[in-house]
Amino acid sequence: MLVVILSVLFILSKKTHSPVHPVDAPMPDTDRLVTTDLDVRTAFAADASGLYLVPEAVARPTSAAEVVEILKDASSTRTPVTPAGAQTSYVGGSITDRGLVLSLRALDRVLDVDPTARVVRAEPGALLGDVKRAAAAHGLLLAPDPTSEEESSVGGAIVCNSSGARSLKYGATRPHVAALTVALADGRVIEVRRPALEKNTAGPPFVQDPVDWFVGSEGTLGVVLAAELRLLPLPTTVTGLGVPFRTAKDALAFIAAARAARDHGDAGVQPRCLEYLDAKAFRIAREFVGGTWAQDASAYAYVEEEAFDDGAVDLDAWLALAEGHGALGDDIQVFEGEQNLREARRMRHAVPATLNERAVKYRAAGGRKVSTDWAVPYPRLHEALVASDEIAAAHGVEIAATFGHAGNGHPHQHYHARDAEELVRMEHAVEATLRHVVTMGGTVSAEHGIGKVKRQWLAMQLGDTQLAVMRAVKRELDPLGILSPGNVFAP
Ligand SMILES: Cc1cc2nc3c(=O)[nH]c(=O)nc-3n(C[C@H](O)[C@H](O)[C@H](O)COP(=O)(O)OP(=O)(O)OC[C@H]3O[C@@H](n4cnc5c(N)ncnc54)[C@H](O)[C@@H]3O)c2cc1C
Repeated sequence: MLVVILSVLFILSKKTHSPVHPVDAPMPDTDRLVTTDLDVRTAFAADASGLYLVPEAVARPTSAAEVVEILKDASSTRTPVTPAGAQTSYVGGSITDRGLVLSLRALDRVLDVDPTARVVRAEPGALLGDVKRAAAAHGLLLAPDPTSEEESSVGGAIVCNSSGARSLKYGATRPHVAALTVALADGRVIEVRRPALEKNTAGPPFVQDPVDWFVGSEGTLGVVLAAELRLLPLPTTVTGLGVPFRTAKDALAFIAAARAARDHGDAGVQPRCLEYLDAKAFRIAREFVGGTWAQDASAYAYVEEEAFDDGAVDLDAWLALAEGHGALGDDIQVFEGEQNLREARRMRHAVPATLNERAVKYRAAGGRKVSTDWAVPYPRLHEALVASDEIAAAHGVEIAATFGHAGNGHPHQHYHARDAEELVRMEHAVEATLRHVVTMGGTVSAEHGIGKVKRQWLAMQLGDTQLAVMRAVKRELDPLGILSPGNVFAP
């Protein structure tokens, strides 16, 4: 495999570059791999963003060599290429109406698990859930856990730096990526590996570790052809706690206290996830399970902690913390065993699924779901949520249903615009909320990326110099600008 001295690639270019190739330019001469059949093109025109963009053609390679061939041809004809994994992007990252969608779905092998080195190697189209099961068969854990893990790809997880509930303990996908094989826009293949050094002053860290150039790059800098991912020990037991509260303030104070206890090394409270449901979200969860449980609650925290070997979760410490923050003690539920934990997570996952379903009926009138994935430093989450409700009210918008990864200061908010007019007000309210959370040290996107949907908000978050560095890296790695036009950067 071709190994390139990466520092050579990273000489920031001062040249100006040609604009992206015109839409009517010829498609690459790779008839065998590329189709313009309308049925196939429309099958690749949607992801989870709600956008619908029909590509000019679709390429469906079955090997890395074919990906390289397609990229070389696309580069020579300046044809835009948008890589696609399983197309579960919430931000329109994998769809385009310019040039090719390059589907990596057929490159779906889990290549091998090395239990000694504690790594798994996989092709980009392998589903995350399949890779996790291959690792688990060796008693090892692949930690990244987006809710979509059974339907999204390894390549997608890496370039979106995906995360989930357990990212509280294990971080997002980034720290678990050991090495990547990447095809650049012109078809050159490079291998990048995290340095094993513990000390290094040769150049700034972002140059020393090129793996991070591609993590979170959303298809704009290269096509991941294969990945080596780090594995960890699987926990021996997991205990879940469902803790209802009378108020959102109490639930969020409990979550913040649990997070602080963990950070301070409190042996009794070491959560791997700290999830939150507000009153609207909890109503949906309660309907999902049925019965009369926790009728007085208007907020809910869901916690999991792991134990290894002979260790055990300290339930008394958790109950004391919960009751000390006003939890409805009689309604606290403890989940143990795989089946019970699965049920607890199904209840949590029923919330976004139900909200998505309920939004469909507003489409005919021009309405839809509007969702956010902003985050703030976790101790300020309650303050940020109060502000977002005030902003919604000021725009005449019904407050959101809020749920998600409160332990990371990261809620999801789902609004339902019932018609086109309400949608406009809602988008203004969301933008005002994002401006506010940025002033609180927050981010406009903690999980789903920028893609095409949040491009206009990136400049709220990053300064001019940071944006200029991003553009410079883009120019260096993709000088013709053919990769994923419209993702992250204006096309
Ligand atoms: C129900 C649901 C739940 C979700 N839950 C979560 C969650 O909990 N956490 C979270 O982080 N996200 C979540 N997502 C968003 C999404 O699933 C993730 O971003 C996921 O990692 C995308 O993977 P994918 O294979 O579907 O990628 P795609 O949607 O196909 O592509 C996403 C981006 O990656 C690029 N890309 C894909 N493969 C490659 C490759 N091999 N090389 C270079 N670029 C590539 C595409 O160009 C695009 O920009 C959810 C989505 C849905 C629909």
